[in-house]
Amino acid sequence: MTQSTQIIDQISQAIGPERLLTGAEVHSRSAGIWRSDTIAADAIVRPKTVAEVSEILRLCNQTGQRVVPHGGLTGLVQSAITQPGDIALSLEHLNQIEEIDPVNRTMTVQSGVVLQTLQEAAEQHNLMFPLDLGARGSCTIGGNIATNAGGNRVIRYGMTRDMVLGLEAVLADGTVLSSMNHMIKNNAGYDLKQLFVGTEGTLGVITRAVLRLREQPTRRATGLAALPSFAALSKFLRHLDSELGGALSAFEVMWHNYYELVTTAPAKNTAPFSTKYPYYVLFEAMGVDNTLIESVLSQALEDSLIDDVVIAQSEAQRLQLWGLRDDVEQVFREGPAFLFDVSLRIHQMEAYVAEVNKRLGSQFKQFHNFVLGHVGDGNLHFCIGAGSDDEDTHKRIEACVYEPLAAIQGSVSAEHGIGLEKKPYLAISRNTNEIEMMRRLKQSMDPKGILNPGKVI
Ligand code: ZN
Repeated sequence: MTQSTQIIDQISQAIGPERLLTGAEVHSRSAGIWRSDTIAADAIVRPKTVAEVSEILRLCNQTGQRVVPHGGLTGLVQSAITQPGDIALSLEHLNQIEEIDPVNRTMTVQSGVVLQTLQEAAEQHNLMFPLDLGARGSCTIGGNIATNAGGNRVIRYGMTRDMVLGLEAVLADGTVLSSMNHMIKNNAGYDLKQLFVGTEGTLGVITRAVLRLREQPTRRATGLAALPSFAALSKFLRHLDSELGGALSAFEVMWHNYYELVTTAPAKNTAPFSTKYPYYVLFEAMGVDNTLIESVLSQALEDSLIDDVVIAQSEAQRLQLWGLRDDVEQVFREGPAFLFDVSLRIHQMEAYVAEVNKRLGSQFKQFHNFVLGHVGDGNLHFCIGAGSDDEDTHKRIEACVYEPLAAIQGSVSAEHGIGLEKKPYLAISRNTNEIEMMRRLKQSMDPKGILNPGKVI
């Protein structure tokens, strides 16, 4: 009997066999979004209560059994990948919205609640949970917190970290660390919840959270601008943000090659402009109506910050504009492609993109690099293909993207995390002392190394 079989028996006795999946029920489940492999773990355990999570971890910790926490499996950096011998701990049955408090504008949830479900629950009270991303229908709040998800509204509302008031996590030994704070301000000592935000399940398993809600805006203005240059783009960002008084909630830039890809067949989107431009910005402002945005945009046209602009006149038009930005899957029609997520200061972006393309050109006879990004947050995404999806091609492309970041103190991960995929490049963005401190925290909180082993550090 292998170690994991013994533990699986003990877990089955502790929480009931119906909470366990083994064999084909595990190996037929996809390992994640856009992945072709399936889950390799020996079992998936699906606790329904925090006490059960605690008991599972206590049992696993006794024998050093490896545990990989699972949310919606929509991450992009192999943070939830399992191997034979692992136990996957899925929070899918810990999925209750426990309370919505409209007076204090908070929501208390269990970690397996799907993001879209809690967004819609907040809307019932004219409130909003501002985190929003493409995977909203499958990702879970626990996964969003564990990866400190970013998305499309960071410029106004911050990342997931900024939306979490309180958190409960179960430590490797089964201890339930409950920090379910409901207040916006609380400086009473260390902010322990931050140990679990963005640490990808390596320090504890998130079970519950208190989330900060915002007022649901009654007005919203959305448009798409065409710009002549990157210099104009960074001026346009400042112009919009200052004239809109902080209401700017999205500033999504599409480089011309990405825009042309998503506006030509077989893509089904229609091109809003008849002329081609170097850059396109999808912008959105919460709490602003079209009258204000029109005057702000006429000024931008007059100052030659933008060459042309369309403003959504209906919800259907708004969705059409977002459809351009969100049609990322078009990049795969040109063959295999790898997705990247990096962070750098805005003034360095134009030269950095040129440097990455120069390096790709020296490595590959043919490549394509579709560029888009949450430029208002200093975050770029590349979709790069060079004809093959083999590991060697991937590594050579990664080097072209990550190595130039070292000289400009950029980050190899803006919002996707590190997981397994970016672990070899962590030292580009974190110094030796920082990485040593991460190791010490891991050693102190999970001495047997059972939690999501091998990820991040
Ligand atoms: Zn993104």
